[in-house]
Amino acid sequence: MFQGVTMSSAPELKATLTLPQTAFPMKANLPQNEPLRLARWAALGLYEELRKAGEKRRQAGGSYYLLHDGPPYANGPIHLGHALNKGLKDFVVKSKTMAGFDAPFVPGYDCHGLPIEIKVDEHLGRKKLEMPVPAVLEACRAYAQKYVDLQTSQFERIGCFGRWQKPYKTMARDYEARTLEAFYGFLEKGFVYRGLKPVYWCIHDRTALAEAEVEYAQHTSPSVYVRYRLTSDPAKIDPALAGKQVSTIIWTTTPWTLPASLAVAFHPDFEYVALEAHPSPCEPFSPCAEGSEGVSAPEVYIVAAELAASAFAACNLGETRELARFKGSQLENVTFQHPFLERSILGVLATYVTADTGTGAVHTAPAHGADDFYTGQRYNLDPICRVDAIGRLHVDPDAWPLTAPPAFEGKKVWEANPIIVAMLEERGALLALSDLEHSYPHCWRCHHPVIYRATEQWFISLDTPIKPVQNEEKTFRQLAIEEIDRVKWDPAWGKERITNMIATRPDWCISRQRIWGVPIAVFMCEKCNQPIIDASLNRKIVDLVEGEGIEAWHTTVVANLLPSGTACAHCGGTEFRKETDILDVWFDSGTSWFAVCESDPELKAAYQAFQEENAPGSSGNGLKSGENSTTCLYLEGGDQHRGWFHSSLLTSVALRGHAPYSHVATAGWTLDEQGRAMSKSLGNGVDPIDIAKRMGGEIVRLWVASVDFREDTAASENLMQRCAEIYKKLRNTFRFLLGNLQGFEPGRDQIKEAELLPLDRYMLARTRELTEKILGWYETFEFHRVYHAVNEFAIVDLSSFYLDVLKDRMYTFAPTSHERRSAQTVLWRISETLVRLVAPILSFTADEVWEYLPKVEGREASVHLALFPKPEEIFSEDPAELLEEWKQIFAVRDAALVKLEEERKEKRIGKGLEAELEIAASGAQLALLQRHATGLKEIVNVSRVTVVEGPELSVKALPASGTKCARCWNFMPEVASYGTWQNVCTRCQEALKEMEIAPPDAT
Ligand SMILES: [Zn+2]
Ligand SMILES: [Zn+2]
Ligand SMILES: [Zn+2]
Repeated sequence: MFQGVTMSSAPELKATLTLPQTAFPMKANLPQNEPLRLARWAALGLYEELRKAGEKRRQAGGSYYLLHDGPPYANGPIHLGHALNKGLKDFVVKSKTMAGFDAPFVPGYDCHGLPIEIKVDEHLGRKKLEMPVPAVLEACRAYAQKYVDLQTSQFERIGCFGRWQKPYKTMARDYEARTLEAFYGFLEKGFVYRGLKPVYWCIHDRTALAEAEVEYAQHTSPSVYVRYRLTSDPAKIDPALAGKQVSTIIWTTTPWTLPASLAVAFHPDFEYVALEAHPSPCEPFSPCAEGSEGVSAPEVYIVAAELAASAFAACNLGETRELARFKGSQLENVTFQHPFLERSILGVLATYVTADTGTGAVHTAPAHGADDFYTGQRYNLDPICRVDAIGRLHVDPDAWPLTAPPAFEGKKVWEANPIIVAMLEERGALLALSDLEHSYPHCWRCHHPVIYRATEQWFISLDTPIKPVQNEEKTFRQLAIEEIDRVKWDPAWGKERITNMIATRPDWCISRQRIWGVPIAVFMCEKCNQPIIDASLNRKIVDLVEGEGIEAWHTTVVANLLPSGTACAHCGGTEFRKETDILDVWFDSGTSWFAVCESDPELKAAYQAFQEENAPGSSGNGLKSGENSTTCLYLEGGDQHRGWFHSSLLTSVALRGHAPYSHVATAGWTLDEQGRAMSKSLGNGVDPIDIAKRMGGEIVRLWVASVDFREDTAASENLMQRCAEIYKKLRNTFRFLLGNLQGFEPGRDQIKEAELLPLDRYMLARTRELTEKILGWYETFEFHRVYHAVNEFAIVDLSSFYLDVLKDRMYTFAPTSHERRSAQTVLWRISETLVRLVAPILSFTADEVWEYLPKVEGREASVHLALFPKPEEIFSEDPAELLEEWKQIFAVRDAALVKLEEERKEKRIGKGLEAELEIAASGAQLALLQRHATGLKEIVNVSRVTVVEGPELSVKALPASGTKCARCWNFMPEVASYGTWQNVCTRCQEALKEMEIAPPDAT
């Protein structure tokens, strides 16, 4: 809708005004029109054209810019987080392309892993058990492919460019082969070992369970308090304990884990007390149950001070006397006697010990708990697991000197509980027993309670020594941390976060007991259980997988792969079995730099350039200094410091000696307006595809641009509506620009920069200033600043100011007059600039505007094939001086507008052109205003501005003198009749003459 078209009172005169005119539709109809534009881009082969253009630029001295896509998991439609992620990547790729880089983008998908296997399991049900492995893999493949196709169509729908016809997939055969090759790289270089690790285990289904396969339900467990007698010198803990009989008390709800008890953990910072229990008459579970004569010797117990009262009450220990108080750190390396085994129990420190339940002294069985396991690692405790796959306990023969096995031998864990409780009671170590109903992990399939059980797993050791080319030997962990330091982390806190994670992480457990994934394709000796490590055999298996996929590992018989006569290097054994574990999916995606960047024909040259310039000791000499070197950017959610950034770093440092990226940028979470996570139950989700269908993919893109992605971002229907409103304004601005370019042929009509009117020059300077800022923000990924600056420019500079004050000139001046051509030249340049600047974000609309711009020889078929404007091409001078001068003019304008408003209120003058101004000034200001008198008239919208000399700046507003022109409404000294038209000013008469418009005949 064009404003201010009712300028003229005579309808025929009004028809002589040159009003804006364009076929560019006011109504976007994005939901209908975007798919048409996508089809047009496909027909044009736009992505391929972009690749060709990029290559040409690179051959002319340009560089690559590689944004390597982190693969989303292919198990559902995209959600808003995906849209944010791919939208941001699209802004980067498009803006880098328009900045002249060769920026290929190969999107990817993460396809293996548990969530898909679970879904397929659910679907197959019991049938799965009768199916051969390859058939199950086939079902998983089909499931993943379905969502690869769906997500691809959805990412395309919101206008993201990339090689969507051929994305990379971690389940592709060549990718699977590369993943396996990377694993062999670790294996052959000596990073891999096998060790025990506790995992959730269902003794009913005899399988390991992932966290996601465990559900919590109520379960009744025996709650026991058990005495552990101190065997080291109590005086070393505190002198007050010298000569005393000292114990600690542990609390557990899994008595069956007590045969695996190796340590008692204390919190290093908690306060512990040593309390002497007064001798009391014998009662059940009282400490005197050891067969003394009714009264026992005083016993001293060490427990956390905060839990002492509750623990002593539970154990019915009666009156106590405090002997000493000390920090938990005092208890490190003390020793206790196991309550029924011949085993010394170590006092250890752990910060996960809590003060809300129990005694602050935690029974530690490294084979049966994750915390326990890592504590065990720190104290070199052997996590040997004596619970077998079906949950039967076996005694540690080294700790059981008796010839008859203990009563729990061979019993299932649940049956063993009462037997062990009885053993404790017999030995007087049981201080209390009760039933506890609590939330306990159960198997998602059979719903039986599960246990934690140490099983043999494959690990990558973080402490493997590495010898980089020219440096001294380091550990894998040290080198990874050094590499983190060479990467640019955005925001900067990412560096500390990932450094801490790498510094403190345990070894990487890369095995999973599942089937949907890349197999750990290793032959194990049946006799000694050691793997065969043979590079040529490994190469053969890689080729096999490359040809036939991971299915081949399951279908090929051992004899066909192993050369005859193969013998175990350790024991000489000749019988081998295939390992059945698969690799952690983070290993899959973590090798994408190898499987994709180094291997894909479209990316490998770019990645090679990056590696050559950025490898330690290369000419690029460090990633930080790489202003001119090839960038390899990873851009994902902030949780990937633990995930993809992390696993990619480890695989690349181990196999190539350097980080796989030079830059890492992270986005926050997408939340609702109240800062809550989006969920089905809250009904606060925003579905990007639903928005695309109702409002347009462009609105999703505009929302992505509107948020500061480094923080958590808010989205809601409401905020999307607001983006749709902003979109309308931007679109209307473009329409107004295009409308005023009617009849303008740049080759014929444009005015030289030096001959432009001052106001028009000012607008070009302002456009150059804006462009410089926006190009800088694209470089630093500050898309929300681009968004705000473009909005402000469109609304404040253009709609409310420039386009508004130009109306007199654009509508009433002779169409070919210098003044009007001057304005058109600038409107054209602003349009050409703005359309390019917004193209990475408003990809659909910018391309649409592109088609309506005045024809220019050699114009690219799409705005996306064009480059960003160069600031000096928009306006050749440094804009600073001119902008400073105009600041003064705007100050005078503000003063004038205030004065006009005052006088209008008092009804001394009329609206707009019914007034004129007399401005007095002196010195430099006077000179400045004299130079800009015509411009001042225009920007204040009065009929006349007279500048006079006076002592200081003062503005006088008067009723306009002269007569109102019937066509342009300016008050002019000379108006005359023009044929039958009365009161037409000289300027309008000239315009009419030029347009060859004659007034109608008088009748
Ligand atoms: Zn089960
Ligand atoms: Zn062997
Ligand atoms: Zn006129």
